[in-house]
Amino acid sequence: MSSTAPAKHVIVVGGGILGASTCMHLARGGAQVTLVTAGPLASGASGRSIAWLNSSGARSADYHYLRMLAIDRYRTWSARHPESRDYIRFDGALKWAGPNETFRETYAFERSTGYDSLWVDRADVPGIAADVNADAVADEGAIYNPGEGWVNMPDFIPALVAEAAAHGAAVIEHAGNVRIDVQQGAAAGVILGDGTRLAADQVVLATGGEVPAQLAALGVTVPDATPAAFVLYTDPIDVKVETVLNTPRVAVRPTPDGRLVLDADWAEQSVIVEDDGSFTVPDESVQGLLDEASKVLAGNPRLTAQKVGAGLKPIPGDGEPVVGPVPAIPGLHMMFTHSGATLGLILGELLAEEILTGTPSPVLKSFRLDRFDSGTAVPASVGTGAWAPVPQN
Ligand SMILES: Cc1cc2nc3c(=O)[nH]c(=O)nc-3n(C[C@H](O)[C@H](O)[C@H](O)COP(=O)(O)OP(=O)(O)OC[C@H]3O[C@@H](n4cnc5c(N)ncnc54)[C@H](O)[C@@H]3O)c2cc1C
Repeated sequence: MSSTAPAKHVIVVGGGILGASTCMHLARGGAQVTLVTAGPLASGASGRSIAWLNSSGARSADYHYLRMLAIDRYRTWSARHPESRDYIRFDGALKWAGPNETFRETYAFERSTGYDSLWVDRADVPGIAADVNADAVADEGAIYNPGEGWVNMPDFIPALVAEAAAHGAAVIEHAGNVRIDVQQGAAAGVILGDGTRLAADQVVLATGGEVPAQLAALGVTVPDATPAAFVLYTDPIDVKVETVLNTPRVAVRPTPDGRLVLDADWAEQSVIVEDDGSFTVPDESVQGLLDEASKVLAGNPRLTAQKVGAGLKPIPGDGEPVVGPVPAIPGLHMMFTHSGATLGLILGELLAEEILTGTPSPVLKSFRLDRFDSGTAVPASVGTGAWAPVPQN
């Protein structure tokens, strides 16, 4: 991206995938950028995510298009950064429905949009995903998506930030609770946790699950459906797992260092939010995830827990991204989305382009904050309601 506009100073708040990507794209585009974040990089949802790269299931056309662009950007990044192939993988994903459910309509929908989607019978599973226990697959079979994959964001975010720094960006970690400095109704910069004020022409708020509360403090409402969630990291295992799995009782993806990351809706719902805001994950949920993951893997390997990563899972009220200017506060931009692993590169690129050029991206038109005021917000899933619930990571 190039710009003839004078260099702008932009402060990006939040060291997750969205903040890191936006910072990198702004720096590449010639802006003077400072990234500030409360703790270390990747310490929010991006550090504890299944991070399945996908546009699986039924979605609005605009959202599907955005996600396809998102996956395309990952492929380009991977091609240009060979070292990233340890932590950005496109080894395919398999999903199947639970008892008394079917994924046939999901498959038909995916095919109708041209999505790379194959129906596989149980007997075909060893041939396409040797790491999967075919006996665990639903009687009707499963959907295999060869073009899907995963990203390990604790590796990717530092790489994005290093590229940003190579283009002159400054990075301030451990900045504490950063607030937006609003002067005469407009964003004038930020106030770090220790009270230090940093001035900026534009500010990007990309603080994950904290975005709604931070905007509320400024009198701006964003509908919020953010739950508590967790992933479980296993100890290293001695069998090779490459396929991302989304099964009725567990989702599984590998890590670059030979572990697995696991989660599930039922396990997420068991997280206890304590009075002090901390998160407790019941031991039964940990063991339950290990047991469920073992069942769906070839050879039923014995799995043990290494660590739990619990916290907020940012999700806007209608499930779709909220990206772009905050109309009530000139100079302030926001990024608040689920599926941020998938969307990280594209949203950072498009928002940076908007800030650098002042021209709104048509691709983001459906994803603005003011859709909630105008009553045009629609749920992300456009299924009939009779469909089996497809994982919406
Ligand atoms: C269990 C789970 C599974 C998921 N699975 C998938 C999936 O399979 N596919 C997919 O695409 N997405 C998935 N996601 C979603 C994805 O991980 C998130 O959308 C994405 O990581 C959000 O990135 P972010 O940059 O918005 O926020 P975060 O990663 O949370 O980063 C926000 C940063 O802001 C910092 N911060 C917060 N408040 C302040 C403040 N006041 N001052 C300064 N800094 C602050 C935090 O410390 C943090 O570093 C999953 C998420 C979870 C939790």
